Amino acid sequence: MGQPRPLALFGGTFDPVHLGHLSVAWEASELLDAEVRLMPASVPPHRPAPLATPVQRVAMLQAALERQSRLSLDTRELDRSGASYTYDTLRELRAEQGTRPLVLLIGADAFAGLPSWHRWRELFDVAHIGVLSRPGVEARVPEALEREVAPRRVSEPSALHGVPAGKVIELAVTPLEISATRIRELLAEGRDPRYLLPCGLFDDPALLAPYRAAGQSS
Ligand code: ATP
Repeated sequence: MGQPRPLALFGGTFDPVHLGHLSVAWEASELLDAEVRLMPASVPPHRPAPLATPVQRVAMLQAALERQSRLSLDTRELDRSGASYTYDTLRELRAEQGTRPLVLLIGADAFAGLPSWHRWRELFDVAHIGVLSRPGVEARVPEALEREVAPRRVSEPSALHGVPAGKVIELAVTPLEISATRIRELLAEGRDPRYLLPCGLFDDPALLAPYRAAGQSS
């Protein structure tokens, strides 16, 4: 039997999911030859609560992921109650997946903030980390993080195959300067960011309604 393809997890609030997320997740899947799952976070420990509810964010992700099979959805953090720490989620996945390589995909901005995450040093015991280049963000890696990461860095995706966890790889994905913050602003202003979002989000007016309503109430 051959080695299993790595399983990569791309977590975020996805408030809403946009073409920046989808494009980097897609390219990461190609570069790593990995299954990629988008994993919406319930109560993000690091940031204010999302504007859309978990049910609304899942509906947007489902609409965004139609008609392709490279990217899929994993709602385990929403199905759990309370805060969802990435470390706990990866431990759960490790128990399910045996020695299959796991890769945590994170944007360069989120990676720079890793030392504030719960049990961040132990993340490397359960998964590899794939850092996605992201334009327009100041992402200086703090010294403590660089010390931890330097001996773990690899440049070839094949170095992740056959090894369950512990490496760090920079993935040079096509830079797209899109953020959910900007999209929420545009929708609140009554604008129509048609080509920053997957077209499925425009099929049902209810999907983007929470962001349009936020503009009317302020
Ligand atoms: P917000 O503007 O609300 O902070 P966001 O657009 O950064 O949202 P998140 O859901 O917070 O989206 O991000 C989830 C993950 O996706 C993070 O690791 C983030 O770094 C990454 N990410 C988001 N947008 C991009 C992008 N355009 N290019 C690369 N990575 C991205």
